[in-house]
Amino acid sequence: MLDEVAGHHDPFAEVNETVSRACEIVGLPDDVRQIFCSTYREISVQIPLRRGDGSITVLRGYRVQHNGARGPYKGGIRYHPEASISEVRAMASLMTWKCAIVNLPYGGAKGGVMVDPKTLNESELEQLTRRFTLAISYVLGVNRDIPAPDVNTNAQIMAWIMDAYGSRYGHQPGIVTGKPVELGGSLGREAATGRGVVNVVAEAAHDLGIKLEGARVAIQGFGNVGYNAARLIRELGCNVVGISDASGGVLNPKGLDIDSLQAWTAEHGGVAGFTGGETGTNADLLACDCDILIPAALSNAITEENVGDVKARMVVEAANHPLSSEADDALVDMGVTVVPDILANAGGVTVSYLEWVQNIQQYRWTEDHVNRELASVMKRAWGEVYAYSQDHKLPLRDAAMCLSVARVARAAKLRGYI
Ligand code: NAD
Repeated sequence: MLDEVAGHHDPFAEVNETVSRACEIVGLPDDVRQIFCSTYREISVQIPLRRGDGSITVLRGYRVQHNGARGPYKGGIRYHPEASISEVRAMASLMTWKCAIVNLPYGGAKGGVMVDPKTLNESELEQLTRRFTLAISYVLGVNRDIPAPDVNTNAQIMAWIMDAYGSRYGHQPGIVTGKPVELGGSLGREAATGRGVVNVVAEAAHDLGIKLEGARVAIQGFGNVGYNAARLIRELGCNVVGISDASGGVLNPKGLDIDSLQAWTAEHGGVAGFTGGETGTNADLLACDCDILIPAALSNAITEENVGDVKARMVVEAANHPLSSEADDALVDMGVTVVPDILANAGGVTVSYLEWVQNIQQYRWTEDHVNRELASVMKRAWGEVYAYSQDHKLPLRDAAMCLSVARVARAAKLRGYI
């Protein structure tokens, strides 16, 4: 959707379109829809950053809490020049629905600092993180709002957040998730999103009658999510026939050797040039002959321009918002099953939740235990969304959204605020 005044893309308005449609299908009144299409609390802070040369750069940071009916707010913090307030609101709203769909006792939030972290050195990055944490600390808390990593933030940054928060309020590891394992991070967190994607593929294939032994899979993106999905999907008997990243693509109808590709990428900085397959482009990857396509890189990777090239029977949204609304509608018309992001990539926040649970218990689970819990959460969520879509004859995205808004509305009603 276009923001008519500014003439540019408005991510929050786009999310609200889907939310409004779900509210209508579920039969929620307009006043409830209005609550869901706006945010509960937004804090905007100034972050003066003293640079190595003595000058000061003034940065802007946000924390947006969308809806807390089901529990404390939960969501990542991104460092990106385009982390605008509309983007952060949209992501906060999606976190509300994502947590509801996998039935975690959380509401949704998101934070961002408008900065290109590549322009900062390590000590400036640490200083920025500490200042931002203290500036928003009034709305954080183990039982109030728990940040996590997102675009351009990582376990080290989470460690600084924990330390900065702890210096003011006392040591509380459950204040942030995605921490290094040495500081209370969970085993299994690193691979959780990719693993959750694979858990969902296994369930979906079973219910949709897609044979996984020998099924051809193409994956866009070979970062944290794409790599782990590629590595783990082979355990289902699938053949990864194509992978692309920012450097280009590699295709091999007989199947790519993921371990060798990972070693190549570590050495050369991207998949391009890998000798275990044919060289291709990102467009070739999206259009290749495959049964399952997993966009795990960018938002809006598939639009009305290239959706017609897709040959897969199932598209699994590992990235956030990889399909434009037009592409999504077109795929549904083409009879392709689209597993929506709020379900498909919820493995990350699920293991963040398991990290928080371990921090509160002051007890560490084994990686196997974490992976089993994750698989059972993803299996149940898939089953509920699929059953709803069958019962109500809805695409999976609408089914997931309807279930989520109904759950959040029920919690709000029980609390007595709607
Ligand atoms: P990452 O930075 O580790 O990897 C991103 C990958 O995308 C890289 O391989 C990069 O080369 C590739 N890429 C960048 N530009 C590209 C282009 N133009 N064409 C093709 N590939 C390109 O990121 P990630 O953590 O793997 O996240 C990927 C997506 O999944 C993002 O949308 C993110 O928001 C979403 N996601 C991640 C998590 C998580 O736990 N990491 C959780 C939920 C959702």
